[in-house]
Order: sequence, then C-alpha cells, then structure tokens
Amino acid sequence: MTRILCTCLLALLLLVTGCTTRPPANIHPPLLLISIDALRPSDVDASQMPTLNALADAGVRAAWMTPSYPSKTFPNHYTLVTGLRPDHHGMINNTMYDPKLGSFNLQSREAVQDPRWWTGGEPVWITLQRHGGRAATMFWPGSEAAIQGQHPRDWRIYDDSVSANARVDQVLDWLDRPERTRPQFITLYFEQVDEAGHTSGPDSAESRAARREVDSALARLLAGLDQLGLRDKVNLVVVSDHGMANITGREYIADYLQAHGLGLDAIRITTSGALAGITPKPGREAAVEAALLGRHPHSTCWRKQELPPRWHYGSHPRIPSIQCQADLGWLVLNRDNGRPFRGGGAHGYVIEEPTMHATFIASGPAFGKHVALPAFDNVDVYPLLMRLLGLQPLPNDGEITPLLPALKTAP
Ligand code: AMP
Ligand code: ZN
Ligand code: ZN
Repeated sequence: MTRILCTCLLALLLLVTGCTTRPPANIHPPLLLISIDALRPSDVDASQMPTLNALADAGVRAAWMTPSYPSKTFPNHYTLVTGLRPDHHGMINNTMYDPKLGSFNLQSREAVQDPRWWTGGEPVWITLQRHGGRAATMFWPGSEAAIQGQHPRDWRIYDDSVSANARVDQVLDWLDRPERTRPQFITLYFEQVDEAGHTSGPDSAESRAARREVDSALARLLAGLDQLGLRDKVNLVVVSDHGMANITGREYIADYLQAHGLGLDAIRITTSGALAGITPKPGREAAVEAALLGRHPHSTCWRKQELPPRWHYGSHPRIPSIQCQADLGWLVLNRDNGRPFRGGGAHGYVIEEPTMHATFIASGPAFGKHVALPAFDNVDVYPLLMRLLGLQPLPNDGEITPLLPALKTAP
C-alpha cells in the first residue's frame, strides 16, 4: 500500500516538474494581436462595429490609446511589438532616408524586407521564438524582414488583395493545429479602414463600409474560435496604430523658401504630408533654417533636436534635421502642382489630437470583464504582451502599470 502511495506521489511529482520545465510560452493561452489600421476609438459603436463593440463591452476597452509620434503606420506598429518609441527603434517614419541604406518606403518590398532597417529593438515574435515558442503573422510591419536572421515561424508577404475573411481563415488554420505546432503568438492586420479613410475621409460612407467589413471578419473569427472550442481560451488584443482626420487645406514648402529667395534645390524632402522631414543641402543650412524654422500660417517647423519633449522624438540619425508639423487637417507639400483639392483623410498630426487617438480593446481568459481603462501610451502594450506570453520584457519605453487593471488577477 505504502509502495503504491509512493509510486503515485512520484508520478504526481514528475507530472508537476514536467509541467514547470516546459517552455514558459506553452502554458499560456494563445495570444492574438489584431491591428485595425487607423481605427478611431469613437467608431467602435453598436451600429458600425457591433462585434467589436460587444467584445469591448464584455471585456476591456480603453478610453483611447495615445500613439507614438509620428502618428504613422510603420513607426507605431513597430512600437506596439517592441515597446520602444520610434526615436529608439529607428522606424522613424513610413518614408525614410539613411545615408548607408538609402531610401525606405512602404512600396519598396526590398526595403521593407531588409533587416538592416529593423535592428533597433526586438519584436515579440523573435523573443518568443528565442525561448522555444512559435509565432505566426498574418501581416505586420517588420515580419517580412529576417530580423536577427529569423522570421516568425509562419508569415506572409504583405498583399492588400487578400480579403479580410481569408486573413481570418488563415489565423483559424494556425489555431487549429495540434498544440505542439500551434503558434502562441499570432498577429492579424487590416488596412481597409485606413485606405477608405485616406481616399474618402473617416466619416464617409466608404469608411463606414470598411469598418463594417472588418467587423464582419471579426465576427467570422469569433465564430471560428467557437467552432474550435477556443472562444474562451485565446487572449485577444485589438489595437489601432493611430486615428484619421479630414484634410482641409494645403501649404507648400516651396512658398516658405521662395519668400527667402530660395528654391527647392536648397533642400532634400524625405517625407511630406501631415508632417514633413527636410534636410538642407550642404552649405545651405543657415539660409534654409532662416526660411523654415518657426511658425507658418498652418504649420510649425523645428530643428529635430528642439521638437517638444513630450513627443520623445528627434535624436535618431534617420530623422531629417528639420521637422515641419502641419496643423490638424492641413498638409505640408513640396510645391503647388496644380492638382485639384480632393479632401479625403490623413494622419501624422500631433499625438495629442483626439482624432489621432488609437483604439485598445482586449478580451480573453487573462482579462477582466466590463473594464473601462483610462487612456495610456501605446508603448505600454509591449509589456502587456510579454506578460501574457510569460516572457521577461526587454528594456523598453513602456510600463505595464496602466494596464494592470485590465488583467483578471493583477499580481
Ligand atoms: P500610412 O497610411 O501611410 O501610414 O500607411 C498605411 C498603409 O501601409 C496601409 O494602407 C497598407 O496598405 C500599408 N501597409 C501595411 N502593412 C504593410 C506592409 N507590411 N508592407 C507594406 N505596406 C504595408
Ligand atoms: Zn496606419
Ligand atoms: Zn494611413
């Protein structure tokens, strides 16, 4: 009898130690990080996005999430998965120039897939895989580059012709795998709301249709999770990278320069729009600064190192030496090219503007129910993701404290 009892105790001990020596990620529920590009928190309501709104009502909804400066797509997506401000991870805009690497823009597959642009910070998927876990990305900026020599175990080349439903089906396929090969961390990205917002403005019928399209893809996801018996076993974190504002007017860098007897040949313009990044040509620094720095009718220009400190931006070598920030609704463009004003929407405005605020919603076994979170900064999402995966966060610019009330059992 005693021998049987001893054998049982030994078996129990082996079982317990066996569990604790598994890679930490395996004992945590799968984590699905969903980004709906440019979704404003105020658009998550019962009439436009009934599925997401119900998820937010039942789980966690932040009043808003403040994006990192600049309120652009690549900088903020990389911040979400590294916890670093763009000034620190180096993805300082969607369009960049680096003396060693040349030009970066979203249309250049070669640049987007070149790991040398992505060396600042380590995204969640790499850390997870370094600890023996498995990640999969149904699109995410950075996932197409072999950062530190590796991609997520499953990943896709960005292709906006893949329908929202097809993306969801891919994620469900990954979750349907046996636990041994099932990813613990999955991303899912939707650009439809951003694209409609740029073309037609965030309050247009087209934008409302895009929000409905994404919402119905989310309904498909939840139904699929139900079918797999995973509805209450997966942690869902739904975010956006920034908001969207209506464009109301345009201002021209050529006009600022001309007033001081200069032409566009005195500068290199790396990026223009809601914000412009400008570098004077060698020898023209003083003249260009005299023409550009300070206040214009609908924009303000600073030396990069003199930008308002609250934006945590201006030290990275890839940031052009002069930054011009348009007022809400305005664009700073190179020159008047005679194109008719079309309206539409833009982002890239200052992160304090309510229309630039981003969305944060969460639900799943780790999260409390009916939690209304005050606003927080998007650098804080990374420590949360790491906590949900059971991983030690790397040094970062965020803190988990504002998100602790979202968790079911705050330690
Ligand atoms: P923007 O509005 O300029 O900040 O950029 C948003 C756009 O980035 C979206 O509409 C997408 O088409 C595009 N985009 C998102 N992810 C990727 C990616 N991984 N590679 C290239 N383009 C992307
Ligand atoms: Zn975006
Ligand atoms: Zn956009």
